[in-house]
Amino acid sequence: MQKNLIEVRDLVKTYVTPAGDFTAVKGLDVDVQSGEFVAIIGKSGSGKSTFINMLTGIDRPTSGRIVIDGAPIHEYSEAQMAAWRGRKLGIVFQFFQLLPTLTILENIILPMELNNLYSKVERRERAMQLLEKVDMAGQAHKLPAAISGGQQQRVAIARALANDPPLIVADEPTGNLDSKTAEKIFTLFEDLVAAGKTILMVTHDSDLARRANRTIVISDGEIVNEYLVRALSTLTQDQLVDVARRVKPQVYPRDSFIIREGEVGDKFYILVDGRVDVLMSQPGGGQIVVNQLHPGNYFGEMALLGGGIRTASVKSASEGDARVIVLDGKAFNALIKESSLLREELTNIIERRVKANQVKSLSSKINDDLRAVVRESKPKSHPAGSVVIHQGELGESFYLIEDGRVDVLIRHGDEEIKVNTLKSGQYFGEMALLGDKRRSATVRVSQSGPALLVELSMTEFEKLFARSTDFREKVKKETARRKQGLEKVGRLKVKPRSGVRK
Ligand code: ADP
Ligand code: MG
Repeated sequence: MQKNLIEVRDLVKTYVTPAGDFTAVKGLDVDVQSGEFVAIIGKSGSGKSTFINMLTGIDRPTSGRIVIDGAPIHEYSEAQMAAWRGRKLGIVFQFFQLLPTLTILENIILPMELNNLYSKVERRERAMQLLEKVDMAGQAHKLPAAISGGQQQRVAIARALANDPPLIVADEPTGNLDSKTAEKIFTLFEDLVAAGKTILMVTHDSDLARRANRTIVISDGEIVNEYLVRALSTLTQDQLVDVARRVKPQVYPRDSFIIREGEVGDKFYILVDGRVDVLMSQPGGGQIVVNQLHPGNYFGEMALLGGGIRTASVKSASEGDARVIVLDGKAFNALIKESSLLREELTNIIERRVKANQVKSLSSKINDDLRAVVRESKPKSHPAGSVVIHQGELGESFYLIEDGRVDVLIRHGDEEIKVNTLKSGQYFGEMALLGDKRRSATVRVSQSGPALLVELSMTEFEKLFARSTDFREKVKKETARRKQGLEKVGRLKVKPRSGVRK
C-alpha cells in the first residue's frame, strides 16, 4: 500500500480586500499518494494558484490543514516553512523565474547552497547531471536571457530537482510555451513520475491533463467530484464545470432500488461511492444480476436515449450505502446535444451493455452444452410479425431466442389464441422433434420488433439431446409443462368462452 504524501483537509483561503472579503478556496479535501501525477484544471480565477500557493507556503491558509510527508505545514512559521520547502519541494512556475544575473549552472547550484546541502564539488557535479537530464548541459554557462522559453523551463525543472525533493509542484509550466515545446516539457514531467517523484501540475491543456494519473477539477474554489470527472472524461473543462453545478448528490442506503425495470425514467446517475447491482428479470421469472457498477460508472442512460422505459433495475449493493450524483433528463439532453464525444461514448457503451445483458440472460437460462453449440451458429434476424413455424407442419428445426420476443399461438377453428410469449434465452420447436412430428403451435415474432434466432437442425438437436443429460432433463421438464399448458387452453376453448364468440 502506498501512503498519502499529501493530506489536505477543509482548506479555506479568504482574501481580505478593500472591496470586501473574497473566499477563493472553499474547503478543499485532497489526498495525494506518493508517486501520483495529478493534473489540476479549472477555469481562470477558479482558485488553482491559490491552492498551489498554499501547498508551497507562498500563501498561507485562512483555515484548514495541510500535511505533506508527515509535516503539518499549516502550523509552520515562515522560517520553518522556508527550511522545509528547500528540501522537500520543487517548484516550477509559468514564467520560469530564473535569476537573470546568474548563469544556468549557478541557478541550479543556488538552492543547494541556500539549504546547505552537498559539498561544493558535489553541488557542481550534481547541477551538471541535472542539466544533462533535461538536455541543457551544453548551455550551462549562458545567462537565462540567451536561451529560449522552452529551454528556460527545462532549466527551471532541473532547479526544482536540485535538492532531490519527493514532491514537485508546477503552476501552468507549459502555459507560456508553444504546443510542441509544451509536449517536451510534459514528457519530462512524465519521466520524473516514472523515476518515483510525485507531481501536482496546474494546466490549461485538457489533452495534457488526460495523460496524468488523475485530474482534479476546481470550480469556484471547490473540487468537482473526481468520479464525476472520470465518468464524463470526454467533456471539455467548461462543460464539466457546468454539469458539476447542475447535479444533485443523493444517498441510497444498502439494498435499495435506485431505478426499477419497466418504470419511466428521466434521470442520469453517476456512482461516486459504493457499489450497485444491475438486475434484469428473466423470462422464466426471477431476476439475475447482469452487471455491477463501481465509482466512476454511470447508469440510467439507456432509457434517456431510448424509449424512456427502464430496461433494468439498479439497486445499491448489500455491503453499504451507494452515493450517486443525479442529472435530470433536461440537463442530460442538453449535454449530449452539446457533446458529440459523449454521445458517441454513450452509444458505444449502450451497445456493449445490451450485448452483455443478452449474453448474461442467455447464460443464466440455457444449458452449457446448448450454449456451446449456439456459440458456433450464426443467429438470423426474423422481422416483426413473421411466422417462424406453422401449427400442423412437420417439424425440422429447433430455435433459441437470442434477442426479441415470439408469440406462441394455437388455432381453434378460425380463431388463434396466444398461449405464451417467449423471450431471449428461451427456445421453441422441440416438441415436434421429440415425437409429435407436427408442430403443435404456431410461433410468430412479436410485433414489438425483430427477433434474433439461432436455428439448430433436427440432427444437431438430436445429437445434443443424446449427449447431454442436463439438456435432456431440462427440455423434458419444460416440454411437459408446455404440453400441460396447451391442453389447458384447449379445454378452456371448448367451454363457455368459445360460446361467447359464436
Ligand atoms: P486561478 O489560478 O485558478 O486562475 P487564482 O487562485 O489565481 O485562480 O484566483 C482565484 C480567485 O481569487 C480569483 O478571483 C482572484 O481574483 C482572487 N485572488 C487571487 N489572489 C488574490 C489576492 N491576493 N487578493 C484578492 N483576491 C485574490
Ligand atoms: Mg493561476
